[in-house]
Amino acid sequence: MPAKTGIQRGVRRNLYERPWIPAFAGMTKEGSLPKPANTTDEVHMPDPQLSAAETAAIEAATAFSRDVIAPNARAWELQRAMSREVMTQAAEAGLCRLLVPRDMGGEGLSLTAMSKVMEALSYGDFAAAFALVVHNNFCRSLAANGSPKLLERYLASSCAAQTIGSFLLTEPQSGSDAANLKTVAVRDGEDWVINGEKAWVTNSDKADVLAVYLQTDPSEGWRGIACVLVDRDTPGVDLIGPYELMGGHAMAAGGFTFKDVRVARSQTMIATGDGFKAAMGGIDVARVVVGAMCSGMLKCALDVAYPYALKRQAFGQAIADFQGIQWQLADVATDLHAIDLMVAHAAGAIDAGENVPLPAAHAKKFATRAAQTGLSQCMQVMGADGYKHDFPLARHLACVKAGHYMDGTTEIQNVVISRSMRRQFGDEG
Ligand SMILES: Cc1cc2nc3c(=O)[nH]c(=O)nc-3n(C[C@H](O)[C@H](O)[C@H](O)COP(=O)(O)OP(=O)(O)OC[C@H]3O[C@@H](n4cnc5c(N)ncnc54)[C@H](O)[C@@H]3O)c2cc1C
Repeated sequence: MPAKTGIQRGVRRNLYERPWIPAFAGMTKEGSLPKPANTTDEVHMPDPQLSAAETAAIEAATAFSRDVIAPNARAWELQRAMSREVMTQAAEAGLCRLLVPRDMGGEGLSLTAMSKVMEALSYGDFAAAFALVVHNNFCRSLAANGSPKLLERYLASSCAAQTIGSFLLTEPQSGSDAANLKTVAVRDGEDWVINGEKAWVTNSDKADVLAVYLQTDPSEGWRGIACVLVDRDTPGVDLIGPYELMGGHAMAAGGFTFKDVRVARSQTMIATGDGFKAAMGGIDVARVVVGAMCSGMLKCALDVAYPYALKRQAFGQAIADFQGIQWQLADVATDLHAIDLMVAHAAGAIDAGENVPLPAAHAKKFATRAAQTGLSQCMQVMGADGYKHDFPLARHLACVKAGHYMDGTTEIQNVVISRSMRRQFGDEG
């Protein structure tokens, strides 16, 4: 019997087998690929300092990814929809109250723990994970900003996913230039009357309540922006879509039009003057989470591509024995390690209370780029098979492209980085 090659001995642990996540143990995933035999060569990240509750949330996310997301994500993509029931199941697993403080009935996760939760969910499907990110952010914002009346009306039901939330900032004419809002709310006695159009609303098909960022006083620019909660079934609210996308349909991105929509002013979640700052307030956190989600997809891609390369024969040997294949996957492993370090660094800094747009911008920019290249390389290693929906790589590749736009495009990360560089090199202008 020939001696095993270094590659055969050094197969990395897949995400569902991380030692600090007991729920992953013994798991096989989509495609029933062979279970790694030996784990001694894996690069170990330092164990994050997590509370017992945080570890439990990561375990719950891991089990949910393995049992609900991974087995169904292909069908959601091909049918172009994920059912509402999935959100209910996620809530039952505690995955819809992750960012709500513990004294308000939530899990109160640190960003380090939230990143691990979203990495685990995205390993199964980025789009389903992003649907949960947006809903969790809605719950966080409600808990932080809602009046007692709004909290009573929406918080418990949102944490249980009986009410599904959404975030409506982007408009057809305004994405990166996010303060340039044309959706207006005009005061009429005790009501707002809202007119305008919103674009790229995640969860558009299942949202019950829309957190609409709108202009209440155009002469004030960004200072005129407020956020009003609008029930989806209010007369004058109409859905556009969901859109047909390159992929990631579980996100159900779509638009809404508002025509003379009358809403009580007590539905104002964030007052005029504070709306834009609040919308931008969590942006660094969101960027780090997208970076972690890219890590999840890339780990999945390596876990699929490497065993495939060990099995697939060409010219009388496993393709994993070609140095060209080994080096492609080695490059992916290096980028993956760098993503994890950058995400852990940015998340740790934010958890420590630092105001750190720069590490978050670096992490998001690098993670989206490296994951896009790495996913493509893993697909290439699998030949034409990698291009089929029999494997999750095509779905992940479509989603990583979406990751380049959401929560600030790659170019906007460069704007943040360039501003910092100009300050660093002495130009305050
Ligand atoms: C799948 C998905 C889900 C989303 N979900 C939501 C959601 O739930 N809620 C929501 O409000 N939004 C959501 N978005 C919208 C997202 O936030 C916007 O796509 C993003 O802000 C970019 O805006 P834009 O697409 O209009 O691009 P634009 O702002 O029109 O940019 C076009 C191009 O110009 C570049 N550019 C713009 N400004 C500069 C500059 N200063 N310097 C250099 N280049 C620049 C951009 O990087 C980009 O390449 C989602 C997007 C996607 C893809």
